[in-house]
Amino acid sequence: MARKRHHDDEPRPEPIVARQQAARADSAVVPLENAGEGTYQVALRPRNFGEYIGQRDLIDNIRVSVQAAKQNGWALDHFLFAGPPGLGKTTLAHVIGNELGVNVHMSSGPAIDHKGMLASLLTSLGENDVLFIDEIHRLNPVVEENLYPAMEDFKFDLFIGDGPHAKAVTMKLPRFTLLGATTRMGLLSAPLLDRFGFHWQLSYYELADMTAIVTRSAALLGVRIDDGGAHEVARRSRGTPRIANRLLRRVRDFAAVEGDGTVDREMAAASLERLNVDHVGLDALDRAYLTVLVKSFDGGPVGIEAIAASMSEERGTLEDVVEPFLLQAGFITRTPRGRMATATAFRHLKVSAPARVPTGGSFRAV
Ligand code: ADP
Repeated sequence: MARKRHHDDEPRPEPIVARQQAARADSAVVPLENAGEGTYQVALRPRNFGEYIGQRDLIDNIRVSVQAAKQNGWALDHFLFAGPPGLGKTTLAHVIGNELGVNVHMSSGPAIDHKGMLASLLTSLGENDVLFIDEIHRLNPVVEENLYPAMEDFKFDLFIGDGPHAKAVTMKLPRFTLLGATTRMGLLSAPLLDRFGFHWQLSYYELADMTAIVTRSAALLGVRIDDGGAHEVARRSRGTPRIANRLLRRVRDFAAVEGDGTVDREMAAASLERLNVDHVGLDALDRAYLTVLVKSFDGGPVGIEAIAASMSEERGTLEDVVEPFLLQAGFITRTPRGRMATATAFRHLKVSAPARVPTGGSFRAV
């Protein structure tokens, strides 16, 4: 499965059906690590601030708060991280837990589907522990309301018994840190947002940082890669570490079977072309989106529902996974009347653009 919203998996491209299944799987309870991938995830995941590459402004800010919490023995404030999948939100939660020297408890919005589940999660926390909730925008409203007093006053209200004999009991919780992650900051309710001490939008990684991530992952996986190879994998990875790690493993396979095991620029470029990942990192799904927008709708403006219907793809997958990068890289713009392809998109598809098309600038690697 390709750019499934939350997990690193198989090579791209993959059939549309598989992507739809992936999107559907995401709407159920999703385990945070899946068995086979777990080994790689753990091996490649940075463990401390020093190993966490890029996002310097964010790391510098968190470092200060973590140090203050450690010096004074208090629990770190609740933080929220937003950004497309694969940018390092889960990794950051682990890093913060390691730096604080506390346990990190992992969960996700859809997994906490009733109040009892939240109660058992909260009562299993130790003093100053970190609770990480992925996809926090998908919390059920009743659960969310019960989270407020837990976040604010470290207490939880329970009702014991039914009907007129029901008794309200307030449980005292340990002081803990909630780290929330979301791909859609806009879907968070204002009261929940207000209860975080700090929120931050993670950005796509710069090319230099991506190259450093590829080089680091190659060393950890024992893949021989030269600077040209690392640069080539990095620039085709949409500024996203998870994609870089996945592509690196695929390129390694090609190098082992069709070369001498070394990944250089030519080997990386040739393998990724065969996997349908082009020189700017767009894959089959991205190009399908742009093709529909440019060829079926003359570049727009057109609503997301119409694009999703034409592609037989889920709107949520397009909004969470496909569009953020296309917007960032200047291939599309969003207007009040819908999505529009830019001149850059027309050029990329080698279609001549009508005069009214927004320029979008020239593509730059993020
Ligand atoms: P998210 O939670 O935002 O979807 P993850 O934290 O699961 O993303 O990151 C995916 C993978 O990318 C991780 O397993 C890790 O190996 C790698 N990764 C993420 N951020 C970084 C980083 N800043 N430096 C190095 N590797 C990273």
